[in-house]
Amino acid sequence: MDDLGRTPARVSTGTLPGRDDVERLVDDAYRYGLASRDGEIATYIPRLAQADPELFGVSVAEVDGAVHTAGDADAVFSIQSISKAFVYALVCEELGHETVRERVGVNNTGLAFNSVVAIELNDGHPMNPMVNAGAIATTALVPAASAEERWARIQHGLSAFAGRRLELDGEVYTSEADTNQRNRAIGTLLQAYGRIDADPLAAVDVYTRQCSLLVSAADLAVMGATLADGGVNPVTGERVVSPAVARDTLAVLASTGLYERSGEWLFEIGLPGKSGVAGGIVTISPGKGGIGVFSPRLDSAGNSVRGQRATRFLSRALGLDVFASEAHEHGPYPYTREMGSA
Ligand code: GLN
Repeated sequence: MDDLGRTPARVSTGTLPGRDDVERLVDDAYRYGLASRDGEIATYIPRLAQADPELFGVSVAEVDGAVHTAGDADAVFSIQSISKAFVYALVCEELGHETVRERVGVNNTGLAFNSVVAIELNDGHPMNPMVNAGAIATTALVPAASAEERWARIQHGLSAFAGRRLELDGEVYTSEADTNQRNRAIGTLLQAYGRIDADPLAAVDVYTRQCSLLVSAADLAVMGATLADGGVNPVTGERVVSPAVARDTLAVLASTGLYERSGEWLFEIGLPGKSGVAGGIVTISPGKGGIGVFSPRLDSAGNSVRGQRATRFLSRALGLDVFASEAHEHGPYPYTREMGSA
């Protein structure tokens, strides 16, 4: 128990259905997701507009290391905003819960991921690490003597979550770096408010690189499963972050992972998740596993439409919704104190 009493004395989560059932339900989720052709590909980063809109992959990684896949689960795409969740975890591991909460915050802005208005409305506070302002501020907090070292640490850390070395998509990086005036403005605004100590444009550049790392839906499932497994990658066995940091990251994702749609997501799916504009979504079921999905067509907030469908299917079919319960079977009613002591 730490001095804040945050470390839970007991952890209670439950288990997934058997492996064969999970395997079958991943296929069913893929078919369910495939039925939708709604949404639009992101075009504000020019290179993303060239994505194949038909690509669709679904994966579940269990905390025992089993990985299930359907469709284009090995197709790679840029991780984009999903990187924010894992960089946040790495920074919490280095600096601790309180520092990151004070500097970056944990509350939803209710506004789009790239909002400048949100910064102004909150006296320069970036509010949370899952919007661009908070993510740039978080990246700037990665302890390093130079931007190159900061980038190397992030690439290494995200690779540890995935269990394989993640590579940069140079074309996506260049395309975003050439067109990210808005993110540069956000970085400079944070500096004006004294919210960023490092060179803000260098921090935005590292942030742009972290967003350009290539992952597959199967990678996202393993990355999610690492957060579901108390911070240990269930495939490689490497401890990436502490159980407390894994828990903190999921708590932040629950309220902020899907931008201004986070409330709707939690209401429909009942799990922490994080989306990115290339069409990936990672979802975490604490103690059970991670779900990774990829499909480039997005809703108006920038969240994959097929990805949301497949994830909602899996949350229900695998019994993952953290808010769902069934009446405990006991009897006879009414319950009496004597029954409890029997
Ligand atoms: N790199 C993207 C940006 O900063 C990430 C946005 C996202 O995935 N929502 O605009």
